[in-house]
Amino acid sequence: MYDKYQEDLNEIMSEVKSTLAVKINKLVENTFIKIVVCQNCGRLFLKHRNAEVYCNKIAPGYTDKTCKDVGYNNKVKNNPELKAYTNAYRAKHGRDKRHRRKEGLL
Ligand SMILES: [Zn+2]
Repeated sequence: MYDKYQEDLNEIMSEVKSTLAVKINKLVENTFIKIVVCQNCGRLFLKHRNAEVYCNKIAPGYTDKTCKDVGYNNKVKNNPELKAYTNAYRAKHGRDKRHRRKEGLL
């Protein structure tokens, strides 16, 4: 029973935060400021770059890591396709870096 109430409450809070973010963004429409909901913890934060989706606050369940540190890894954990893509990307990046280092470019 409690879980159902908690689920409903989380859903309502998520909607409230999204609505609040939309309203605040309307207020600051002509500035560079954007307020968005963090995709890891659900808290509101100021977005500085367009691609930013995770906040800089300590992530839930951690004492020393931010949502930026763990957000993408948490997302990858639950998505096999994204995990395969990330592994391939990191392997290629590592190969390129080793090659550049070998050529004396780093
Ligand atoms: Zn966050």
